[in-house]
Order: sequence, then structure tokens, then C-alpha cells
Amino acid sequence: MQEIKVGLEVHVQLNTESKLFCSCSTKLADANTNVCDVCLGMPGTKPVLNEKAVEFALKIALALKSKINRSFLFSRKTYFYPDLAKNFQITQYEVPVAQGGKLRLGEKEIRIKRVHLEEDPARIIRKKDYTLLDYNRSGIPLVEIVTEPDLKSPSEARVFLQDLQQLLEFIYISDFSKEGTIRVDANISITRYKKEYGYKEGMKTEKTEGARVEVKNISGAKEVERALKYEMLRQKNLENVKAETRLWDDKMRVTKGAREKETEEDYGYIFEPDLPRVEVTNELLNKVESNLPELPEMKRKRYEKYKLSKEIVDTLLTEPELSHYFEYLCETHNPKASAVVLTKYLKKTLNYHNLKLKDVDIDIRILRRLLDLLQEYRITDEMAEVIVRDMVNDAVRGEEVRSPDQILKDHEYEEPIKEEKANKLVNDVIRENQRAIEDYKEGKEEALDYLVGQVMKKAKGQADARKVKKMLEKELS
Ligand SMILES: [Zn+2]
Repeated sequence: MQEIKVGLEVHVQLNTESKLFCSCSTKLADANTNVCDVCLGMPGTKPVLNEKAVEFALKIALALKSKINRSFLFSRKTYFYPDLAKNFQITQYEVPVAQGGKLRLGEKEIRIKRVHLEEDPARIIRKKDYTLLDYNRSGIPLVEIVTEPDLKSPSEARVFLQDLQQLLEFIYISDFSKEGTIRVDANISITRYKKEYGYKEGMKTEKTEGARVEVKNISGAKEVERALKYEMLRQKNLENVKAETRLWDDKMRVTKGAREKETEEDYGYIFEPDLPRVEVTNELLNKVESNLPELPEMKRKRYEKYKLSKEIVDTLLTEPELSHYFEYLCETHNPKASAVVLTKYLKKTLNYHNLKLKDVDIDIRILRRLLDLLQEYRITDEMAEVIVRDMVNDAVRGEEVRSPDQILKDHEYEEPIKEEKANKLVNDVIRENQRAIEDYKEGKEEALDYLVGQVMKKAKGQADARKVKKMLEKELS
């Protein structure tokens, strides 16, 4: 038997316009063009704190229910490496932005240890015969979220990261479509229990506590699961696991030894003398609090009244825009029908193209029109799906998204047969199938499906099966 403990350090890149301590742009650009004396660490330059980054960090802390330190400070973490021009990184050590907190994960809660702000070092890109140091990334604002070692398996670590990313998407502090927006270091230790039978002492359990291994350089949720799975297997085959820092190689899919595990104390932190303490005023805190959007957990609670399946609610909450669209549509249309159009048709098609709702320009009014057509039984479910697919295709091609009516015209779609005709067919079928009707009245539900089938046959498939079923139920009640 074994017990696995995993703790994560999650680095999230904030989507501020400028860097953490200078006014250089954070946008993607040619290497070493978004740089200045400050982020290159020239002597005599002084950092100036980006207030937006502080607001974003506070937003994250509130979303994670962390306790905000009303007065926090920055520290220098000293180390020598080419990605760090000034030989120290400005981060937080003694008093971070916030401490404590939690994220609900199914039935359990994962405790958050701390939330802090820090600057990203430069990016090291290994080329065939040289190494490129790109200082565009030097000084990009990051928030580091550190968990307690509460995660019990590689798959739980993946789910935690997915849920965390979902939460962060809802508060708009980061752009997750950019590569490398989330980077993770994972700490893992494995305790083994061995049952042995001793001659004198009887059954006893021997417990071997494994050393803590840190795996660095993991990007994203799926990679965390892979890296931890690999690390579990590696440690299983070792007599003695030593505490160390390893690097995840996502191409080879192995962890590689990097260095003996250092402790935080080894870095010799000192207070950053060029930055004042940051005081979180009531005014600032109120501002951030009042701008905090509704979080997925609260939305989930609020959606309970619609009695949707868990799967549909999960899908609606995969991106904030989808949940907003759902709420808008609910104002005018049936919630279940709205949820089905958004999740089964729209989200499915977007997934196929690897897109998000915010990437395509689909007007809410177009979706309202589609729901009208569905609710008036003027199109079938199948046709509704075709319309959604066509709309997304229009958007992908960069063309103007056609209206449902235009798409129907383009497909030379014939509306399901008219009310009177359907009525006549229903009555015909009732007259001709007395046996099935008796069965239905005795409670055999499948008899109704048979009758629906008979009407559809007479209508040559041009009727709406849902509507026919309703008409039959009405006639037979
Ligand atoms: Zn700069």
C-alpha cells in the first residue's frame, strides 16, 4: 500500500498591458524588443510596481477565499543564471499578497497555502548551435498559487488544475489561449506501508516515508498528470528516493535529475529595498471585491433550479461566455432548449474547430431566432444542429455569420408539415391503430413511440417527431 502526497506551485501569467515593474509591453514580439533598462537589470534602475497586477492578484486571492495581507512587501531571491540579468528575482517571501484559502474539488477541499506576485525571468530557447535569451519575458507579471500537499493522485492533480484554470477564466486575469500561461512545479512524496509478520510481535506495518521530489517545468493540466505518473513509477523502482529537483521533459515524457533539492532558505532572501510596502486600502479592496464576477461555484448553485444534467451544467461552465449566453437566452426562451443548443450543438462544433465562443462572432440574437424556430416546430433538432454548424463554419472562414433563415434557404429546407396536415395524420393513425391505443391507455409507454413512428411514416419524415408526440398525447388524454 502507498500514500501519495502532491502539492503544486502554479504560476499564472497575468494579462496586464505592461510588465510588473516597468512600462514595457507584455505583447508577443520579436525577441528582445520589449525591453528597457529596468527589466534588463541595468545598474541604477528602480522598479515601479504595476497597480493592475496587484488588483489581479487580489482578485485571485478573493476567488480562492484567501486571507489578504493588508500590508505586504517584496523580496529579492538571489541566484545566478543567464535568465536573470540582475542576479535576483523580485518575488514575495515573508509577507505575500495572501495566505490560506481553498478550492473545492468534488467532495473535498484543497487547501491553498499562499498567493504571491513575482516577476518572470527571461526565456531560454535552445537552438541547434546557439542559445537564445529572450528578455521580452523578463518582468512579465506572474501570480504563484501554492497548495498544501492535499492532492492524492496524478489524476486529482490534473482535475485540480483544470478547476483552477476554470475559476481563473471566470475572473479574467489571464489569457489562457497563450502558450505557457500556466506553468507548474509539483512536489511529490510517496509513503509506503508494508505489512510483515514478525515471529514475536505478530503482524506489524512498516512505514517508509519517501523523500520530497520537486518536478519543475510542467505546462498545463494534462502534463501534470503525465509527469506525476512517470515520477510515481520511477520512485517505485528505487530502493532509496532522495530529495531532489527534477525537470519534466515533455517531449521524451520523462523527468530528469537537475540538482539536489535546495531549501527556500538557501536562496538568502532579502527585503527589496527599492519598493515600498504595499498597503491594501479599504478603497482598493472594495473596488476589487465589487468587480469580482460571479464564480463557477455560485453559478452552479443558481442553475440548480433549471434541473439540467450535471454534464450540461459542466459544459456551460467551461467558459464564462457560454454561461453568459445561457443566462441571456434564459430570459426569453426555455432554459433546457437553450442549454441544449449551446452545449450539444454550439460547444460541440466549437470543440471540433478547437475554438472558444469568444473566438467567434455569433450574435445572441441569431441564437434567439434559432430557438424561436425550434419552439415553433418549424425546424427539427437535426436541422438546428446543421444551422449551428454552418454558422460556426461561416465564422471560421471569416465570413459574416448567416442568419438561421438564410441558412434554411441555402439548404432549400422544407418546413415540417403544417399543423392541420399533421393533425389529420395523427387522427388517421389513431383510427387505424386501435390496438396500440388500448395498449397505451393500459400504460404501455412504448405504444406511443409506435404511434409516433406511424405518423412520421405517413408524413414521409417531414413532421417534427416531438410535436407529433405531444399531439398524440393530447388526443389520447
Ligand atoms: Zn522593461
